[in-house]
Amino acid sequence: MDRLERYGLVLAVLCCIGCEPSAVENVPENHDAPSPPPAESIEANVSAYCACDKCCGKWADGITASGHKIKPGDRFVAADKRYAFGTMVTIPGYGRVPILDRGGAIRGNKIDVYHDTHKQALRWGRQYLSVTIERKKQ
Ligand SMILES: [Zn+2]
Repeated sequence: MDRLERYGLVLAVLCCIGCEPSAVENVPENHDAPSPPPAESIEANVSAYCACDKCCGKWADGITASGHKIKPGDRFVAADKRYAFGTMVTIPGYGRVPILDRGGAIRGNKIDVYHDTHKQALRWGRQYLSVTIERKKQ
C-alpha cells in the first residue's frame, strides 16, 4: 500500500464518521405506523374435542356454551371464562377463530379446539403452543 492509497482510506473512514449523524437524523420516525391490535400471547395447553358424547357427555347437544349451533366445518375454541365469547384467538396449526365455548376442565391457560370428528380431535391430541388472544373491543 503506498502513501496515496493510505491517505484515501483515511479520508474514506473520516467521511463515513462524518456522515453518520445526518444518516441517523434521516431515519423516519414511525409516529404514523398503526399500532397492532391489543393482544396477549400465552403459552397454552391446547387440547381438542368434538361434539360427541365422549367429549361432551350430557352436553353433547351440538350447541356451545355461548348458544352457538355447531355446523359441519365450524372452527372455534373453548376457553376460560375470563375471556369473553367472541374473543379472537390465533392458534398455530388451527387458525384465527372465536371463543364460543366453555369447558369444565378449560381453566386458565387451557384451550380446547373444536374438530368435526372425534378422530380429528384425537389426531390433534394435546399441544403446548404460543397462542395469541386479542382483547375484545368494548
Ligand atoms: Zn369427541
